[in-house]
Amino acid sequence: MRVHHVDLVHVPIALREPLRTSQGSHADRVATLVKVTTTDGVVGWGENVAPEGVLYVDESSTQSVASMHHLCEQLRHRDIDVEEMFADSWWSSAGHYFAKHAFESALWDAQARSLGVSVSSLLGGTRSEVMPGVVVGMQDSPDDVARTALRHVAEGYTRVKVKVSPGVDLQILKAVREAIGNNVVLQADANGSYSMDDVETLSQFARFSVQFIEQPFAANDLAGHAELARRIDTPVCLDESVITFANLRDAIDMGACSVVNIKPSRVGGLIDAVRMVNYCEQHGIDAWVGGMLETGIGRASCLALASLPGFTLTPDLSASNRYFERDITEPFGLNHGAIAVPTGPGIGVEPSDWVFAAQSVTKESLF
Ligand code: MG
Repeated sequence: MRVHHVDLVHVPIALREPLRTSQGSHADRVATLVKVTTTDGVVGWGENVAPEGVLYVDESSTQSVASMHHLCEQLRHRDIDVEEMFADSWWSSAGHYFAKHAFESALWDAQARSLGVSVSSLLGGTRSEVMPGVVVGMQDSPDDVARTALRHVAEGYTRVKVKVSPGVDLQILKAVREAIGNNVVLQADANGSYSMDDVETLSQFARFSVQFIEQPFAANDLAGHAELARRIDTPVCLDESVITFANLRDAIDMGACSVVNIKPSRVGGLIDAVRMVNYCEQHGIDAWVGGMLETGIGRASCLALASLPGFTLTPDLSASNRYFERDITEPFGLNHGAIAVPTGPGIGVEPSDWVFAAQSVTKESLF
């Protein structure tokens, strides 16, 4: 496959309600869509989901889009096999994982469309639907969080993840567990806000049957996570700590986690994510697909990934109406608690006409 054109489409899109975490608040974002056109005239779509500001890992949307202007040169005049596009070896420079993922996911879409198959089947997916979970951000009181969680359970979600931080944790877990009952899976995500001083508090999470505590400590503290995992009953899940395959291998070797959140954007692409989930499967580690407030374009490729059998826990891939009044694609809906994995060619969806007509949308050609 050879790339003839690469275009970016920047689409401002507001969230229905801000998502608050221990690191800040997200109220809206600019979805940067990537359109690749191959020399055979096949079009593929991807999405750069780096967040505004540096509220997650060290790559903001502004930096990431700037990186795309440089990285795109490596797509020119080159025979491309998407199965070889590993973030740390295919590209000539390290880092820029959200940017690399945006290009790579568009190329997976183009590759699958050129073959007339879905990205899911091309990746080895076996599920036709996934049972997604919902994330409830921080709110003004534990009761507010519990009410929101209960509303989502009534919509059909069977797993709720709440955001926690020191001092804003046990009351939330208690209120939510009481509201949703014992049949709904409850998870907690700290986004790295705790330290070893908080082990006593974290040990109490088990009282509320929390399935795992996600990223309790700072991203680079694998040894701390390993010690915590030995000292508490609640399983430890890593998110921000696992950027590269080497991070994953080291974390598992050290006993720093028994669960991993695999976001294709954070790890630099779908093929890296596939390699990671296969490694987790071989080592008895639970894995699931995380989300980054993707629009329908990014969500579709995440759903294709989540259809792989190695993912053992529910993904963070809620229906479109959880996030947006109007999604960029046909909306993804919840049907008896499940979201269908697209079966059409490629990622199975495309940007809707309104995206190209909206005055707030800007377009640029990279080459
Ligand atoms: Mg997380």
